[in-house]
Parts: sequence; C-alpha cells; structure tokens
Amino acid sequence: MSVTDTTCDLTYSKMRGLVTFLTAFIKERKMGLNDFIQKLVANPHICQHSDVQVFIKTDENQNEDEESCIPRSLCLGSTRGSLAEETQVKPSDFDYLKIIGKGSFGKVLLAKHKETSKYYAVKVLQKKIILKKKRYQKHIMAERSVLLKNLKHPFLVGLHYSFQTAEKLYFVLDYVNGGELFYHLQRERVFLEPRARFYAAEIASALGYLHSLHIVYRDLKPENILLDSRGHIVLTDFGLCKEGVDPNGTTSTFCGTPEYLAPEVLQKQAYDRTVDWWCLGSVLYEMLYGLPPFYSRNTAEMYNNILHKPLVLKPNVSNAGRSLLEGLLQKDRKLRLGAKDDFQELKFHAFFSPIHWDDLMAKKITPPFVPAVMGPTDLRHFDPEFTQQPVPSSLGNSDNMLASNSVREAAEAFPGFSYMPPADDTFL
Ligand code: AMP
Repeated sequence: MSVTDTTCDLTYSKMRGLVTFLTAFIKERKMGLNDFIQKLVANPHICQHSDVQVFIKTDENQNEDEESCIPRSLCLGSTRGSLAEETQVKPSDFDYLKIIGKGSFGKVLLAKHKETSKYYAVKVLQKKIILKKKRYQKHIMAERSVLLKNLKHPFLVGLHYSFQTAEKLYFVLDYVNGGELFYHLQRERVFLEPRARFYAAEIASALGYLHSLHIVYRDLKPENILLDSRGHIVLTDFGLCKEGVDPNGTTSTFCGTPEYLAPEVLQKQAYDRTVDWWCLGSVLYEMLYGLPPFYSRNTAEMYNNILHKPLVLKPNVSNAGRSLLEGLLQKDRKLRLGAKDDFQELKFHAFFSPIHWDDLMAKKITPPFVPAVMGPTDLRHFDPEFTQQPVPSSLGNSDNMLASNSVREAAEAFPGFSYMPPADDTFL
C-alpha cells in the first residue's frame, strides 16, 4: 500500500485521532525513559558501565546547575570532560603558609596569593580518597554547585575559585580567622543569652537565605561555624559529607560528631529544610547550656535520647529562650518551629525581639565579642594540632597527570569542577 493511498483514505477526524494517539504514546514513552534514566543514574554501579555512560552522555554545553548535572555528578569516572577544562588559576599561584583545619577528605590551608599578597583559605581535597568513597563524590559536586550558585550573604563564606590538578581539588575561599565558634565555646563553657542570641540570629538569617534558594545545609555544627575578625558568623562547608570517614576508611571522631543529628536523619527518613532548624536548636542549646541536647557519652544512648527522650530545659535560661528551644527541638518535624513559614517564624519569635533584622544583615549590630587577632598570620584561634603540622610541599605542584591509570581515573572524575568568577570579582 502506497503512502498516497493511505493518506487519501484518512478523513480529517481520523487524522486528528491518530495524532492525539501518537502524541500521548510519545509522551508516555518519554516519561518512561525519563524514569528509566533517573533509576540508572541513581545507581552508581550501573552508572559506571561504559555502555551506560555512552547512553546517558549529555550535551557538553548544558549548564551545570543541580538539576541538569545529575548524570555528571552521580556517574563516577566519567570519560567526559578532562583537565583540558582549565581556569587560569593554579596551585603554584599561592604560597601555602599553614594548615588551619582538617575535614574528611583533606586539609584547609592559609595561603597567600603571590601576585596580590591577599590571604585565602584553600581547601585541598584528595581525589583518590573521595573516589574510594565514591558515593561522596556527589557531595563534592554539590558543594561546588552550591558555592557557585552565586551565593552572596554576609554570613556565608565566599568562594573565589575552584580548580583541580590530576590528584587534588582546590577551593579558594575567604579566609576567616576569628576561629571556630566551638573553640570559643569550649573555652568559655557557655555564652550569656545576648551573645548566644546574636550568633543564633546571624546563623538563622544565613539558613533562611539558603532555604530561599532551596538549599538545605543539613550539617550545621560548631566546627562549621566560624567567626570573622570582627566577631560575625561565617558558615563554611557546603555539602561536604562529614560522616566520619578518614583516609583509612575508619570512623574518625574529628568529623561527624553525631550530637546534632535530627531524629528524622537518624531514622533515615525523608528530611527537609526543617532539619536545619533542629540543628540551630542544638547549637543554641549548646551555647546556653554548655552541652548538646540529649547528650550522652554513649552514642547509642544519645541516639535513643534524640529519638525518644523528652526535652528537659533547666530554668537558668529565659522563658523566651526555652520556648524557642522547645520549638526548634521538636522531634516531629511537621510540628517544628519553621515548618510552616520557615525563617519568618523564627524572626518573629520573642527570643529574637531585641534583634533588628535589617541592622543584623547590614552588620550594623556590634558583635558581643571581638576575637583578638593581630593580622592574617595570627593563628591563635586555630588548633595547634593543625597549625604545627608541616605544610606538604607538593601542594603548590601541578601533579603528574598521566602517571598511572588510577591517577588518570581520578584526574577525569570531576568534570566541570573548575570555576573562575567573572573577571572583576576576585583577586582585585
Ligand atoms: P571543613 O572541611 O570545611 O569543615 O574545614 C575544616 C576546618 O578548617 C574548619 O572546621 C575550620 O576550622 C577550617 N576552615 C574551613 N574553612 C575555613 C575558612 N574559609 N577560613 C578559615 N578556616 C577555615
């Protein structure tokens, strides 16, 4: 039967019926395919298969925001992308002066940009270690994409650059030298209410800002809360999983303190932005009472307390403070303060009534405590455990790109990582 014959036999309404049927059929198939691809990329083992990688290969030019980069960030050892993606920034542009901190995958160093003499905190992560714990790779990509989402907030650390060599990932961040909130809290045991209120308000406004961009911080704890030299809060560490993995694959006590885990996270249930309000409640509790809520030296008992033990608040904190803690440390996330209207609900809570929020955002409220720092190289607020360690000389090298297969795999596993802001944005 020829084409001409068929079309001649078709009436207009039959044609329309056919078109409608075909459109619905294609739509259904498309949805099925979408579903199928999502299942594929969600499974790292399947994802690594070379046929699968060819199949899900996406347009190299597509933009890199969280939604569109799913295959890139979940598929490991992708053959797409290479070190050809270069920014003009490289490790040897910096002098690495001191180690100032350690996270799960690498070190944080004080570094000086050779040309401008400006100081930065450079976070250096070992690709090999990340790749050993492959499921964390997406957290690195998440951290980068979160930092890159043009986050600009007075209480969030700023990223200037990210770049990579064959073996390492580098984040060039604002250098924040007032020390960890935790460090000051440990020295003073507790903070008075006005001081705790000031920190809680700055943290809450940063979290509210992240939530407005659909970002859940999830991992708020004192180690991630720094003070700048004037005494304002700076939140660091976006998306880097701190579940206590050290280079040997054993649990480390340095990262992954589990005290602030919300009940829903502990139970591996779905969580949402209210998880951050639980963590804020935990930080506030620790600032006011000197220990995390539900604390026990026995981790199993602490988990049990978080899940089941009612919150008991001793009366040495004001009514407004206790009411805020009760709201934030509500075990049922649907009943938690912030569940309905997020940050707005906290803003108007009685505990924060002395806070003028516009002034807070403009950094017009004088911080209750100014860390004594003489200058950028004054490291008194950093733990000597880190600052006394020798700085590895390899940090300034662009390592050997083609040394071995495993190095090559590491080299190519983070396509699209490097980042350079618009020309006038940095090092000026
Ligand atoms: P992180 O892996 O981001 O948790 O960093 C580990 C530690 O390094 C932190 O707890 C801080 O003590 C320190 N650190 C991280 N980022 C910075 C920064 N931008 N400025 C100064 N110190 C930092």
